Amino acid sequence: MEAATAAWMDRALHMAKEALENGEVPVGCLMVYNNEILATGRNEVNETKNATRHAEMVAIDQVLDWCHQHDKDPDEVFAHTVLYVTVEPCIMCATALRMMKIPLVVYGCQNERFGGCGSVLNISSDDLIGTGEPFQCIAGYRAEEAVEMLKTFYRQENPNAPKSKVRKKECSK
Ligand SMILES: [Zn+2]
Repeated sequence: MEAATAAWMDRALHMAKEALENGEVPVGCLMVYNNEILATGRNEVNETKNATRHAEMVAIDQVLDWCHQHDKDPDEVFAHTVLYVTVEPCIMCATALRMMKIPLVVYGCQNERFGGCGSVLNISSDDLIGTGEPFQCIAGYRAEEAVEMLKTFYRQENPNAPKSKVRKKECSK
């Protein structure tokens, strides 16, 4: 793995860990433009009670804010931005990334349930009219660590589950 890629993936994993510690599905990402981190995102779905607040969507919003603050054209910035993310983007996020015209996504593990870059649908490379451009994916960086965090999350009790459900689960042990 190239040194720079290793460093970016390390940061993305750090964001995923932060998500895990906050009771979110552990997915973390960064958006890197000209060797500068413009955005760091992690899942905020439970915190915001908004099912669309995936790491990538959070990061897209941050890049847009950065463009606004620095008087940059978002089209030009996204066209030269690389997304580093711990898990294969889901169908929703893959579509958003296409529409923002991000050219390259580097990710860790596959997303067997919702993956939009080959696992479920092929949003990244399919010929889809009116939804931006296909983007390149490089998969497999630090995949085992990303999977391990997901497993840890799904093993934990869901902190948002009603108490009765938690108790019921405990009784059945
Ligand atoms: Zn997503």
